[in-house]
Amino acid sequence: MTKGNINVSVENIFPLIKKFLYSDHEIFLRELISNATDATLKLKHLTNIGEAKVDYGNPKIEVRIDKENKKLHIIDQGLGMTAEEVEKYINQVAFSGAEEFLDKYKDSAKDSGIIGHFGLGFYSAFMVAEKVEIITKSYRDENPAVRWICDGSPEFSLEETTEKTDRGTEIILHIGEDSTEFLEESKITELLSKYNKFMPVPIKFGTKTHTLPIPEDAPEGTAAETEEIDNIINNPNPAWTIAPADLNKEDYTKFYHELYPMQFEEPLFHIHLNVDYPFNLTGVLFFPKLNNGLNIEKDKIQLYQNQVYVTDEVKGIVPDFLMLLRGVIDSPDIPLNVSRSYLQADGAVKKISSYITKKVADKMASLINENREDYETKWNDIKIVIEYGMISEDKFFEKSDKFTLYPTTDGKYFLWNELEEKIKPNQTDKDGNLVILYATNADEQHSYIQSAKDKGYDVLLLDSPIVPHLIQKMETTKEKIQFARVDADHVNNLIKKDEPIISKLNETDKETLKKSVEESIKDKKFTVQLEDLDSTDAPFTITQPEFIRRMKDMQATGGGGMFGMGGFPEMYNLVVNSNSEFAGQILKTEDAESKENLIKYALDLAKLSQNLLKGKDLTDFIQRSYKQLEK
Ligand code: ADP
Ligand code: MG
Repeated sequence: MTKGNINVSVENIFPLIKKFLYSDHEIFLRELISNATDATLKLKHLTNIGEAKVDYGNPKIEVRIDKENKKLHIIDQGLGMTAEEVEKYINQVAFSGAEEFLDKYKDSAKDSGIIGHFGLGFYSAFMVAEKVEIITKSYRDENPAVRWICDGSPEFSLEETTEKTDRGTEIILHIGEDSTEFLEESKITELLSKYNKFMPVPIKFGTKTHTLPIPEDAPEGTAAETEEIDNIINNPNPAWTIAPADLNKEDYTKFYHELYPMQFEEPLFHIHLNVDYPFNLTGVLFFPKLNNGLNIEKDKIQLYQNQVYVTDEVKGIVPDFLMLLRGVIDSPDIPLNVSRSYLQADGAVKKISSYITKKVADKMASLINENREDYETKWNDIKIVIEYGMISEDKFFEKSDKFTLYPTTDGKYFLWNELEEKIKPNQTDKDGNLVILYATNADEQHSYIQSAKDKGYDVLLLDSPIVPHLIQKMETTKEKIQFARVDADHVNNLIKKDEPIISKLNETDKETLKKSVEESIKDKKFTVQLEDLDSTDAPFTITQPEFIRRMKDMQATGGGGMFGMGGFPEMYNLVVNSNSEFAGQILKTEDAESKENLIKYALDLAKLSQNLLKGKDLTDFIQRSYKQLEK
């Protein structure tokens, strides 16, 4: 047997890094600014613990374009490097100085916000530069500055230089022919605002003109003076890094607009996330007003690591039902691959997702307790998220009784237990089930809603597209409840609290009536049922078995493979009110043709009120009605 080491030569690795390691060339700037930030934060830490005896001051990072000479500079005032350190940290590919630092200062530095991780970030510079220079001077004063140059081959030069006397590091990228876009101010601005907008050290990119106030004692007509000031592109202290107690509503709204400059509406409310065990995570989530559907695709939740933007593909970290929210999640513990764009499947990710779910549920419960009225006015905008959560996350469903509202067609809102209490005395069926009547469209189901209300029933207005699934979930989870749409057949099965209605017709008459109707209506879709209703109730009403209609609804809203067989038959009940005047009139009419016309006309009216009369049938009906008027 032979044992040995596989020989990896740098000649082979370099082009690999350049080509494959990072799918996105533009991230080079993020990596170099991250290193500059780390260098600054390390110095901050060392001065804090008294190991570096220098004046920390107000360090910033500068990005400068030198278009003429095709160079891009990234300059920091961090701890710098000695010649030995350059040899150690830069010349060793895949050795992370950031990890070494965190290791060395384990306990004290764990919250220092150091970004680096894989020891590969620096080399991403070669994706856009044909030559990279580092001019760096360590904060330890005895060491002179050094210059390192490398053209992307494994050869480099390292020499002392007198060019730099202040501490810190300047990285100079000699931009390659195929990457000249990175010499454009607009491109760099775009990258800075995408990746670096909330990084913890101020980043200067150019200058801007600042107008000074005119002194009060200045003679009239004095022009305002201006001065050039640094153009700082980032907010080093974004809301999610600040304790919730130190922020008010305006601060959150301001942050929302900073995050999404193209969103002009205010968010409905925010949820501040903050955990440090068993993983580190901070963030702020916002419930946006969803009704206008604008920018849903574009303005998504953003994932950061130590204030560096990573991605807005947060699937997996954020449960699906919360993908419509906006905001920021920042966690150093989310496992990402080297290029930091792809999430690695991991148990920690699941834990994060369920933490977020729990936190959102708790926040909802506290919001409704704090201000019920306000919560009710927002319900329409948030219900789709909540209802989707109830269907898809059991943990969320378990808590949902505390914050899910059930609106009635009269614009009242009930929590589940309030609803149960209110309708229990009135809306039960023969088996003791609580029957919850609901409408999905207040206009289309108007006559049914009206007639249910006349009987003293409460009707909910449940109009989101996923309601069929929600109802299904409720019925299978809660005991002894049954949902029925107002136009469903078992509305008439409800136990009436009033006196039982006396039948006006005797059994023979009923038999004749039923036969007449059945003979006139040849359409097999309709099952004729005679009911002793109030004499003022509609003579003919079309109802649909709740089960059939619901299956159809579920199919329409993607009920999943379970109902994939499709093709449920159209089935309706034609409820004939045997106590109505009209029933009597049918019986009295002797002429067969007149009788049939009467019945067909009434059926059309019933169809009309259920929105079932369409096309040619509707045209015929209108023509027939005019003829009737002419008579
Ligand atoms: P990582 O950041 O993951 O440690 P990098 O390849 O990005 O790996 O950088 C390698 C190391 O080079 C850093 O850890 C740091 O020690 C050193 N370094 C890079 N840029 C700078 C800088 N601007 N100032 C000081 N040290 C730096
Ligand atoms: Mg790095």
